[in-house]
Amino acid sequence: MPFGPFEAMKAPAAEITPASFQSLRDRLTADGVHSLLAQFTDVHGVARGKLVPLNQLELLMTEGVGFAGPSIWGTGLARTGPRAEYYGRGQIDTVRALPWMPGIARVVCDGYVAGEPFDACPRQVLKRQLARLAERGWTLRTGIEPEFFLLRRTADGYDPADPHDRLDKPSYDLKSLPRQREFLHQLADGLTRCGLDVFQIDHEDAHGQYELNFHHADALTSADHLMLFKLAAHTLAEQHGMVFSMMPKPFANQPGSGMHFHASLWNAAGAGRTTLNARCVFDDASQDLSVIGRQFTAGVLQHADALCAIAAPTVNSYKRLTVGESITGTTWAPAYVAHGPNNRTALVRTLKGRIEWRVPDASANPYLATAALIAAGLDGIARQLDPGPACTDDLFPLSLSQIRERGIAVLPQSLSEAVDALEGDEVIRAALGDTLSREFIRLKRAEWVGYARHVSAWELQRYADQF
Ligand code: GLU
Ligand code: MG
Repeated sequence: MPFGPFEAMKAPAAEITPASFQSLRDRLTADGVHSLLAQFTDVHGVARGKLVPLNQLELLMTEGVGFAGPSIWGTGLARTGPRAEYYGRGQIDTVRALPWMPGIARVVCDGYVAGEPFDACPRQVLKRQLARLAERGWTLRTGIEPEFFLLRRTADGYDPADPHDRLDKPSYDLKSLPRQREFLHQLADGLTRCGLDVFQIDHEDAHGQYELNFHHADALTSADHLMLFKLAAHTLAEQHGMVFSMMPKPFANQPGSGMHFHASLWNAAGAGRTTLNARCVFDDASQDLSVIGRQFTAGVLQHADALCAIAAPTVNSYKRLTVGESITGTTWAPAYVAHGPNNRTALVRTLKGRIEWRVPDASANPYLATAALIAAGLDGIARQLDPGPACTDDLFPLSLSQIRERGIAVLPQSLSEAVDALEGDEVIRAALGDTLSREFIRLKRAEWVGYARHVSAWELQRYADQF
């Protein structure tokens, strides 16, 4: 059986007693767990950690387990002295036995340095923004939609793992999907047994591309779920001889992989459209979005360029966010800074009581993307910004000059432009904190320079014998 919530998990940290550790350890032992996978997420959104024997459970949850700080991307920690150690401190409510790795339970860790929450740990960054919402009595719920490719390595690159997956317009293809049914079932089943509410899986619009959806949750849990999804998918794909990839745009002529965020603010008190006695602050009986929802949206549009650096953080991201067509007729990627009711051609698609932020791609760090989203939205609320008229047009067939005539801006078209925008955006940088924004900007500039200095096959083909 999967591990449900443990009694101890519900207790505030101060009330966790040696006895509750013992009972958790006993339950894990009874379920065959011998080791804990102490996992945190680096600045790039990649899972990191170490294996810890189960008898170290209490240490992991109290002091944490140590890592050499400078070995982790984005910490900016020193090589020597008391601030050289990064501690991953296990969060007791996240312990889950992994069905695809028998004997091992995953524990999500928060970063600590010198006994204090580490400001540049992406999960701590998100917690800081959630605390700003909590000051207003709000919580954020997010539903994160991962799109991904199943690939196989070839002599000179990667192809879709399924060689028969070749339809011109493969969205919702029911011939390819069943061919991957074993992998997809193991993935959905494993995640369900870890407490994710998986509700659908489909073939997306590119060869070898799929999407698996699990229900929304509070924003921290959703980000933890997304990381668990990636852990599971990487391991299972490897077991099936495939490569699981959340690279944003593996094939130039096909749609890329987005990681859209559905987001809504909730207020624990009050009446209205209720879920677990909470009221959706974005909901309004008379229109799709409340005034607060519109202001939040305006903030997301206002900070769209800087948000891009966090939500579309690789060189490759900007091959997805381009303006234009793919072989299937549309990339569905949102390059236009606009919002509209059920409008998937705009950056923010508005729905009843929630927004879908369509910019993030599959390479984004889910903690940082959520934190940046909150900071942008709260700025919109603080300044009572108006998002302007809703856009009901299909923006995709319009030319760039027609888009501009409507006063609609286009997102940065390269990582370099996006990082410039982040550097110039104090609101988003403040949300990330000094260390993380400095490290993020430094790493992303180096990534851009590395890309720019590389001589690609395209360049050779185009220029080698031309001049
Ligand atoms: N793959 C598209 C993207 O990159 C999204 C397709 C969809 O809306 O499901 O954003
Ligand atoms: Mg999709």
